[in-house]
Amino acid sequence: MDQAFTPQDKLYIGGEWRRGRGAEIASNFPADGSLNAKLAGASQEDVDVAIERAQYAASDPAWRKILPHERATFLYKISEGLARHADRISLVQSRDTGKTLSETRALAMSAAGTFRYMAAALETMEDALTPSRSNYLTMSVFEPLGVTAGITPWNSPIASDAQKVAPALAAGNAVLLKPSSWSPLVCLELARVIEEAGLPKGLFSTLPGAGAIVGERLVTHPAIRKVSFTGGTETGRDIARKAADKLMPVSLELGGKSPTIVFADADLDVACAGVMFGVFSSTGQSCIAGSRLFVERSIYDTFLAKLVAATERLRIGHPFEATTQMAPLIRPKHRDEVEDHVKRAREDGGIILTGGERPAGADYTDGTYYRPTIIAGLANTSRLCREEVFGPVLAVLPFDNEDDLIRQSNDNSYGLACGIYTSDFPKAWRVARAIDTGTVWVNTYKQFSISTPFGGTKESGLGREKGREGIRAWMAQKSIYCDLSQVPHPWAKSAL
Ligand code: NAD
Repeated sequence: MDQAFTPQDKLYIGGEWRRGRGAEIASNFPADGSLNAKLAGASQEDVDVAIERAQYAASDPAWRKILPHERATFLYKISEGLARHADRISLVQSRDTGKTLSETRALAMSAAGTFRYMAAALETMEDALTPSRSNYLTMSVFEPLGVTAGITPWNSPIASDAQKVAPALAAGNAVLLKPSSWSPLVCLELARVIEEAGLPKGLFSTLPGAGAIVGERLVTHPAIRKVSFTGGTETGRDIARKAADKLMPVSLELGGKSPTIVFADADLDVACAGVMFGVFSSTGQSCIAGSRLFVERSIYDTFLAKLVAATERLRIGHPFEATTQMAPLIRPKHRDEVEDHVKRAREDGGIILTGGERPAGADYTDGTYYRPTIIAGLANTSRLCREEVFGPVLAVLPFDNEDDLIRQSNDNSYGLACGIYTSDFPKAWRVARAIDTGTVWVNTYKQFSISTPFGGTKESGLGREKGREGIRAWMAQKSIYCDLSQVPHPWAKSAL
């Protein structure tokens, strides 16, 4: 089961592999706590070097002036490299995060798909000739911003890294990537692929390190023209405040407390599988986890009995075991936090229908495992129904009718995603339109496409990623007026 690997221990800064000058970062394997690697993270000086080189590379005509279809060739090559090295990327990411190999392989291929899509989209982007109001040509064109940054979390690193780096490069920028220091290794694999693809040096750097040092420097540095952030809501709020000081655009993909809804007329097998996948896959460490379940009261007891029985059959195990459905949580401190949420839910009157503890047995003693947990008996205003757990914990609530359901679903500070299970399409449509979230799935959950915009409402974020417009979000729009009359302006003519 052991899959050995030698991780990168240098950072890719301004086109060179160098030791970081910041604090040491340790990456441990969540399945047994063993050390994957120690490496020196980036320092503030490293960020400044990366920015300086990025400024040069972004303004170099070799990048700035090349045509979109030529720029796209770099993205195609990066896509091919990610696919070619998908097994290694998957292994590194599984060791870094404890996720199953099947999930991390899918994430590596999704990152390859993101670069391929952005390359293709780039080749089709058009500027506009706008309707003229006089004898001139008016145009609206899009240009690169310059030096930009992406800041990403630990839960799906290669996929979220690609969602920032691919459109940023497609738009003609330089981009500096700061991954989470809990999962520092996989971004270095991305750097190897980017270097292999021949991207001009300086256009991409990866700077794992402390959020308060590396992240903050990226956000506040005057040369950085945009930050795209994925992570927790509190960090996002802090970044938005600092960005406001320099009037810099930000895109924020933040947390969630997403409702999943099961109507009495739903196919209960489809709903049960969808609910479990929605909240327990990735061991619940997903921004879109469907962590509040609303079940129509007439089927509440029947559906919960089915859901609890099926949840107890989920296979908890080692990330390298092909049969594993639920792997360990990222690290001991995070499991402690998940356990605290469950403790508080108990204090608030929650009834544990299943889980609520670590799995028993020798296979589980060294890893940060936690059983899938279902909790009933709480109000929608309780702490568990308000706070993001980021673990395999589901709160279940009954509802009586559509109005009651929509009111409860929307009564939450988050607005990331929602799942609806019903066989009545007009009802699904009505509810989907009434729910205040960025994404709604009907009779499915957690399905993604790079061609479909993604983002949240309320405290789940600002802006959208993905889709063709995802490239525009990394560009500056400029209007150009060209006079065609070639005569002096009448207002000044008499003075000539
Ligand atoms: P986090 O907010 O703690 O960290 C995210 C990133 O921000 C890390 O790289 C971190 O080092 C950096 N950071 C921390 N403090 C910073 C600061 N002051 N300035 C700049 N950067 C700073 O989040 P996390 O624990 O890594 O990830 C989990 C969170 O991410 C959850 O809330 C989850 O819902 C959210 N998430 C959202 C999406 C989405 O698309 N909406 C996707 C995945 C994860």
